[in-house]
Order: sequence, then structure tokens, then C-alpha cells
Amino acid sequence: MPLTQSPFLLYSDGQGNIFEDTTLYALGRTGWDAVPVDVDNWIELPDGGNLYELPGRRGIGLDVETNELRLCDKGIAVAAFIPPAYTGFYMAAFETHAEAPTLPLFCYTAAAWYNNKFYVTGTRIEPDIRQEKSGYDAEKIQAGVAKFTKAYPDNRLVKHLADTCCNTYECPAARNFFLGRWECPIPSSPACNANCLGCISFQPEEESIVSSHDRLVFKPTVEEIVEYTVPHLETAPYPIISWGQGCEGEPLLMWETIRDSIVEIRKHTQKGSININTNGSNPVAVKKLMEVGLNSIRVSLNSFRDEYYTPSYRPNNYQLQDLIESLKTVTDMGGWASINYFVFPGVTDSVAEVDALLKAIEYTKLNMIQWRNFNIDPDWYLGNLGVTDTGACYGMAQMLQIVREEFPQIKFGYFNPPIERIRGNFEEAFAH
Ligand code: SF4
Repeated sequence: MPLTQSPFLLYSDGQGNIFEDTTLYALGRTGWDAVPVDVDNWIELPDGGNLYELPGRRGIGLDVETNELRLCDKGIAVAAFIPPAYTGFYMAAFETHAEAPTLPLFCYTAAAWYNNKFYVTGTRIEPDIRQEKSGYDAEKIQAGVAKFTKAYPDNRLVKHLADTCCNTYECPAARNFFLGRWECPIPSSPACNANCLGCISFQPEEESIVSSHDRLVFKPTVEEIVEYTVPHLETAPYPIISWGQGCEGEPLLMWETIRDSIVEIRKHTQKGSININTNGSNPVAVKKLMEVGLNSIRVSLNSFRDEYYTPSYRPNNYQLQDLIESLKTVTDMGGWASINYFVFPGVTDSVAEVDALLKAIEYTKLNMIQWRNFNIDPDWYLGNLGVTDTGACYGMAQMLQIVREEFPQIKFGYFNPPIERIRGNFEEAFAH
């Protein structure tokens, strides 16, 4: 139900109990600033979303009487993790105490309360329901795990997808594989040529936060990859197979194995889409993969501006321009190119970033933007980049509008599209 007034700030007692403070309206955070949020930018907390209490932090709200900003002194700050398919417009507004711990690698979207409902800022950006919480039947998943591990007893990758990805991390892509549907993961690279601040598969010892996944420790063979991916492409609805998962490093470091796998796979089936999620560091390797049948690429980045990209990705032997060339290579060769754009309000929607994005779209002929919430502690991120002022910004809602008006053909979403959407009616929401 759309709001007609600002909702109230949320706070926690530190024991997992969350309350509303009706003396304070909720605000949003953009860059380092706490700002009022337009009532149209609030939506009900979607199914699958979570609320977090933020240790060592106090919420900043707008006093309902004086209309002035002030801290909530009733408890600690609260934020929301909004589920995949939704893009957040503002982060939670809070003040961090000096001894507060760094927050783990989740997104911290602004959350509030009104009329017995929780609200968050954002929008549903993706109609595809492949990662809907309600779509996962645990019994069917375990039946699939039993069936596939029995069918491929010596396949280390299927064992990794079962024991680690599905049954330890509850990875949505791995669970979809064991349910015999949609996008199937192919983690392949134990190493990476970048050192991202917010890497979810590797965090240096000296960092206070831990990575949410352990990185793959073996290099799968072409045979192991082909053995389970060909049947998936042949039998799954809207089938996609994807290199570049959260539990691995950079797949382009394994491009020869990927090339040989694609060649072998396409000897057995022409069905589905073959995709790579990557940091885009090697356009020459991307060209070689396109030559043998790669269909789509998704390049991850936090910014098209070097002063944000390089201190965040800390690349070894490549640079921002390389990933731009990788995107252009794919569209030049008739493939589908997406960016996995880490949304950080205040940075992503800044005037300078929007300008850089529009130039990159013009040059690369990009097909799709996946507006992915950036899973990172905002203070830690901006602090490590040495950013004290993120500059003038449009607001995420207006930014989406600007990009749509400038490039009406570009698609918005959150997930890699299957070949049916790439070559068919893209807007068709799949009634799976
Ligand atoms: S490119 Fe991916 S795997 Fe490599 S450091 Fe960055 S987040 Fe981690």
C-alpha cells in the first residue's frame, strides 16, 4: 500500500527486538548524508527481505515536531537487506561510534515502519522470479541433490555445488540447478586478478570482516564441466549456464578451459544460453570465447570512474578500460552484454557517475544494466576510497529515469536473461 506520509524510524534493543520511534520520521542515506525520502520511494518490505540491527550505530531521523535531524536515543540503528530483484534507493541513515565494528558484506537499505508494516526504499527492477524465496522447496532440492550426486559420483564440481553451494551457502543458483531449472552455476577459478574491497570469496587476514564464501580450491576439467551442463541445457526450462560465481575468483583466468568446454558443449546441444560473469579484465580472451559460442557476458563494477573503480577493485595487470573493451567486444560480435552495477546511493546516482555511465553505454552499445545492491559497510567503503564528498546527485529513482530516456532500448534487471528473453519478447515476465 503506497504511503501518504513519511514512515517512522526503526530501532533495536540490541536483543533482536525492533521497535518504531514515532517521534522521528525515517530518513535515507546518500553518500555521507542523511536526507528526507520522497514518500513514493518507499515500498513494503518484500518477502525474502531481512531486518538487521547495526551494532555501535544510532539511527538519524527527522523530529516530527521540530522537523530537525536528530539521533534516536532509544536504541541502535536498523537497516534492511532487500531481496534479489529489488534495487534500493537509499541506505540506512545512522551515526557510527568510534569503536563500532565494521559491518559484514550485506546491503544496508533504509527501512521504516508505518501502519503495522515495514517499509524500505527501492523498486522491483526485475520481473523474473528465479530467486523468489517462496519458490524453493527444500524436499525437492534434496531429492535433486541425491539424484545428481548419484548420477555424477566422481564429479568434483557437482559435489562442490551440492555440499558447499547448495547445502552450506544455500546459493539460489545452485538450488535452481538441483531443481533442474533456469540458471546453472559453473564455478571454475580458484584465483583472481583483482583484490576487491568487498570480495565475498576472499578477505585478507588483516581485514576485520570475513568473506561470506570460501573460494573454490580446485580447477575443474572440461569433462567435469560438460558432464552436468549439457543435460541442464537440454532439459531445464529457460536454461542458462554461467561461469563466474560468488564462490570463485575470476573465470577469465581459466579461459582456455572455458573455451574448450563451450566447444564440447555445443557439439552436444544448441539449446540455452552460455554466459560468463566476470570482472572483464581480458578482452582478448572474451573475443576467443565469443568466437566459439559464448552468448552473453556480465561485467561487475562499482563505477565507470577510475577514481572509484581502481581503489575498490585494486586490479593486478588490468585497468578499467579493459572491461569497457570486453563489453564492446561482445556487442560488436552480436552477443548480449550486461553490467552488474553495484548500486551505492550517492555514488552511483551522482552527476559525475551518470555522465560516465552514459558515455560507456554509448561506446559499448550495452544491452542491459543489472542494478545490484552493493553489499558493503558504507563508512568502510567510502573511508577506504578516501571519499569525503560524493558530489551532487540525482537520486536513484531519477537516475533510472534519465538512463531510460537517454537509451530507451537498454534493459533493466537483476538477473542474466535466458536466450528466450535475449532473442524474444524481453519484457515478457516468465510465468515459471
Ligand atoms: S573480481 Fe570477484 S573474485 Fe575477484 S576480488 Fe573482485 S569480487 Fe573477488
